Amino acid sequence: MKELHIYNSLSSKKEKFKPLEKGHVGMYVCGPTVYSNVHVGNVRTFMSFDMIFRYLLHLGYKVRYVRNITDAGHLENDADEGEDRIAKKAHLEKIEPMEVVQKYTVDFHNTLNKFNFLPPSIEPTATGHIIEQIEIIKKIIDKGFAYEIKGSVYFDVIKYNKENHYGKLSGRKIEDLIHNTRSLEGQSDKKNPQDFALWKKADTQHIMRWPSPWGSGFPGWHLECTAMSTKYLGESFDIHGGGMDLKFPHHECEIAQAETCNGKSPVQTWMHANMLTLNGQKMAKSTGNYILPEDFFTGESEHLSKSFSASCVRFFILQAHYRSVLDFSNEALLASEKGYNKLMESVNTLENIIFSNKTSGFNIESWKKNCYQAMNDDFNSPILIAELFSAVKFINQIKENKASISEKDLLTLNSCFNAFIFEILGLHTLNETENNHKEKLENSIKLLIKIREEARENKDFKLSDKIRNELEQIGIQLKDSKEGTNFIIDSK
Ligand SMILES: [Zn+2]
Repeated sequence: MKELHIYNSLSSKKEKFKPLEKGHVGMYVCGPTVYSNVHVGNVRTFMSFDMIFRYLLHLGYKVRYVRNITDAGHLENDADEGEDRIAKKAHLEKIEPMEVVQKYTVDFHNTLNKFNFLPPSIEPTATGHIIEQIEIIKKIIDKGFAYEIKGSVYFDVIKYNKENHYGKLSGRKIEDLIHNTRSLEGQSDKKNPQDFALWKKADTQHIMRWPSPWGSGFPGWHLECTAMSTKYLGESFDIHGGGMDLKFPHHECEIAQAETCNGKSPVQTWMHANMLTLNGQKMAKSTGNYILPEDFFTGESEHLSKSFSASCVRFFILQAHYRSVLDFSNEALLASEKGYNKLMESVNTLENIIFSNKTSGFNIESWKKNCYQAMNDDFNSPILIAELFSAVKFINQIKENKASISEKDLLTLNSCFNAFIFEILGLHTLNETENNHKEKLENSIKLLIKIREEARENKDFKLSDKIRNELEQIGIQLKDSKEGTNFIIDSK
């Protein structure tokens, strides 16, 4: 079987994955800036890496997955300008910055839990690693690639680019960057507009500040990821991921910082998850073309005709490859829900299937191989899902007595379904409330069956027929047999 290959954004090629330390994987993913509710685009990015994390675990790797929380240093725009996003929100809501951080970190975790995410191994915060960030700045200054001006420290991109290639990840050329960057005359103390802040002096109004050798201030946004990834995964590690929008400048700056500091390339494989659109347009609050994760569960959005379960939304997202743009629309979600229900029904059918002595009319071993092949080909979840549906077809044929399955194949099919559907794609069967409701519904039907039996014993056939017919009208079929009466709930 083909081994795991991953598309590396740095080489723009699929490469055979070979961890630095056999059997171990170090993976860092840029986490959220916790100043507002997590949006659906972020959910998609983190879900891609959740699926990747799950597959690596399934393959037997010991994975250390680090996903940070940005709780300081991320300014309103990426050119080191504007207010700190968290401080701004704190001002607006008249609360402490750490209250903002707490509120939106809790929201982030709650949302991800609903979508059945596995927690990362470590979830470090920028404010918890100020000392480490200051140490890195000192090193970069010592090596001559950063300069201090009026209490702020900037990374010298032009000097770095003389010996290295600034832009190697995003494919940008320094000449173009120089040409395209507007001059910041009088607005900044930077030597060149391309330089980026490692440390910013805090003005009198700035509430989030720490002491440093350069005076009171706060770290630049790009620095925290270098500090935390180095601390927990080492100077070189296997996988660094994030959304496509982070390639430049964020990840480019991370490379420049780490290479200057440690003299080596920090990351073996750079992975970027693509964006999400809604009805073919970019999601933006300003145009109203957006949905919040919560809207899926309530159905209360002008873009949705009904509510959807978290697992169905997860299935919808994973039906697209993580590197493709995914477009959300009500129609696409409805179609996906049908597929999701069909898959879950066949999970239930599979539980009741009995093996036979005949050989199977479906090559389970080669199907299993195809499933792994799909995931080994840069985590191709849509191909995996298509493979799962060829098994669904086979399961339905067995149910209709049009095919049979041997004992060995049934065991393989069961274990693969569990591994791929639940463990790797992270889908789950009904949630607790849904389960609770389902149980109550089933008990109510059982009660009606009991009343019907009593009616038949009393020869009250009018009542017993009424119960059967009216249940049938609402999609519940009663099946009488020697063992008693059973029922089928129509899923349509
Ligand atoms: Zn980052």
